[in-house]
Amino acid sequence: MKNDPFGNYLKQLEKVQKILQLEKSLYQRLQKPDRVLKAKLKVKMDNGKVKTFQAFRSQFNDVLGPYKGGIRFHPNVSESEVKALSAWMTFKCSVSGIPLGGGKGGVIVDSHSMSEREVEKLSRSYIKAFYKNLGPTKDVPAPDVYTTPQIMSYMLDEYEKLVGYHAPGMITGKPLCLGGSKGRSYSTAKGAYFVLKNLEKELKGDKDWSCQTGEKASPCPQKTVVIEGFGNAGGQLAEMLYVDGYKVVAVSDSKGAVTNEKGLDIKKLAEHKKKTGAVSGFTGGQNMDKEEIFFLPVNILIPAALENSIGVEMVKKIKAKIILEVANGPVTPEADELLEKAGVMVVPDILANAGGVVVSYFEQVQNAMNYYWEEKEVMEKLEKLMNVATKNVVSAQKENKVSMRTAAYLVAVKRVAEAVKSRGIR
Ligand code: NAD
Repeated sequence: MKNDPFGNYLKQLEKVQKILQLEKSLYQRLQKPDRVLKAKLKVKMDNGKVKTFQAFRSQFNDVLGPYKGGIRFHPNVSESEVKALSAWMTFKCSVSGIPLGGGKGGVIVDSHSMSEREVEKLSRSYIKAFYKNLGPTKDVPAPDVYTTPQIMSYMLDEYEKLVGYHAPGMITGKPLCLGGSKGRSYSTAKGAYFVLKNLEKELKGDKDWSCQTGEKASPCPQKTVVIEGFGNAGGQLAEMLYVDGYKVVAVSDSKGAVTNEKGLDIKKLAEHKKKTGAVSGFTGGQNMDKEEIFFLPVNILIPAALENSIGVEMVKKIKAKIILEVANGPVTPEADELLEKAGVMVVPDILANAGGVVVSYFEQVQNAMNYYWEEKEVMEKLEKLMNVATKNVVSAQKENKVSMRTAAYLVAVKRVAEAVKSRGIR
């Protein structure tokens, strides 16, 4: 299968297994989800016709805590993708040190072509299909690509109607009025930002962080960045980096890309995108082919769109020395190997984009207490967790002399393995 995210996950796991030498039974357990639930959702469309949509919920592993992971509404959703995303969630929660397992959901749908009413019916129908397997202590969904806080509200409402009591902690990424957490809306970007800042400190003087002015490492007055995907995570991170003095020289979205070698004014670009629905056509830059932005001469390349956007054929042309994976699985395993050989540091998704699930966890904690923190407190807690997670990964990397991805898996798989062992025979 050409696009097989779960196959990619298995290759990553195999690599880690060579170093960790897990017991056979544990290795086998990590090769498949605990269960994959499937349903055909029927929705009466506005024109009176009933349409059927394929839906999935993959519950990968819950030894550390309830399954946790978003629900994606996208035409390219597949069983392999949902399974892979649920596996990555397991290790994302583990590497971040939070007491949650890994799950993921998806519906094969082009929700952008549907009315709000139809999207609401689809969201409620998803919960009707799976609610018996969901709940604050079982499996906790959240938003993902093309699902929103509003969709989380429909889902919470449907769940509470079905079970007959309030259970705000059954889903995260809710609006504040229904028990959402302050700071959740930009937490993925903020987490990635904290990881990057930490790495800069950890790797100060390392040539990967130098400007591309020659062999000798030199301090970088203004780091240059390219971002694929100017959406929720990528757009917010672009703004944080811009405000912090980084030069964001190109960004793309599904419709095109825009560049300015002197640096894009991200605040103005965000306004332009809001008005026109696309980054292209921005007067503060020039349009460019979105496939070409990967090859610009910058320090940091940030894929923040969908899986598999960096394949082997692209590796030779990539000039960035750091790739920060804000999207899930944006680098294919084959490309990953070549990038490692070429000395490019790939900061893996399970660390780089963990900020979202960490604040989702905080949201659940607040729901359980029925007491809510101020935004500053949420961000301080996020920063602390991301700092510890990054430090642990960097230590594992140095200790084992492996890539940052393998190091992150080493940390994450070890924690899961320890929990499995402590639980005894199941
Ligand atoms: P989003 O829908 O808000 O943004 C995705 C962006 O990617 C959009 O701007 C879209 O136009 C763009 N895009 C789609 N196809 C593209 C293409 N071929 N080339 C260039 N751009 C393209 O989604 P998001 O929430 O920002 O998520 C983006 C990625 O980050 C996903 O992989 C998601 O799983 C991951 N992620 C998001 C969160 C979160 O909290 N938002 C958390 C963890 C991981």
